[in-house]
Amino acid sequence: MEITLVILKPSAVQRGIMGEVISRFEKKGIQIVGMKMVELTDEILSEHYSHLAEKSFFGRIKDAMRVSPVVVMALKGLDVINVVRKLAGVTNGRDAQPGTIRGDYSMSVQENIIHASDSPQSAEAELKRFFSENEIFNYSHHLLPYLYAND
Ligand code: UDP
Repeated sequence: MEITLVILKPSAVQRGIMGEVISRFEKKGIQIVGMKMVELTDEILSEHYSHLAEKSFFGRIKDAMRVSPVVVMALKGLDVINVVRKLAGVTNGRDAQPGTIRGDYSMSVQENIIHASDSPQSAEAELKRFFSENEIFNYSHHLLPYLYAND
């Protein structure tokens, strides 16, 4: 089992679609093992988006993430890092496939509803960045036999 980090960005919070997006993860069979609303600081965002520090839009995306609180989520499942990236769709909402979260809810590159970790290494670092150990819960998911059978 893997755990991945998802952020419901201000574009989800402001538009009132947090519940719909969370519901997609639940219906897919992904277990929510951590979730909270937080206001992100410029410092934590500089770390989170450090791979984009040289880009002209670096300041703009950090500001956009501070327009309102965000919801950070720890999601657990088999291959969940890859599964959630697929559910999210590609970065630009206008290019994202219909059926994906960005494809269904976004018309923007910047305001693209969610962040999702893109590798096991970034999931590990990002979970540590946004959650303390006692905020991620280990509990049994009663649907497991129906979700995975013998996978
Ligand atoms: N972003 C942007 N303009 C760009 C590329 C990215 O505003 O040309 C924003 C967008 O919100 C994206 C975030 O910066 O989700 C992080 O970019 P990354 O390349 O890591 O894409 P992601 O992994 O989120 O799809």
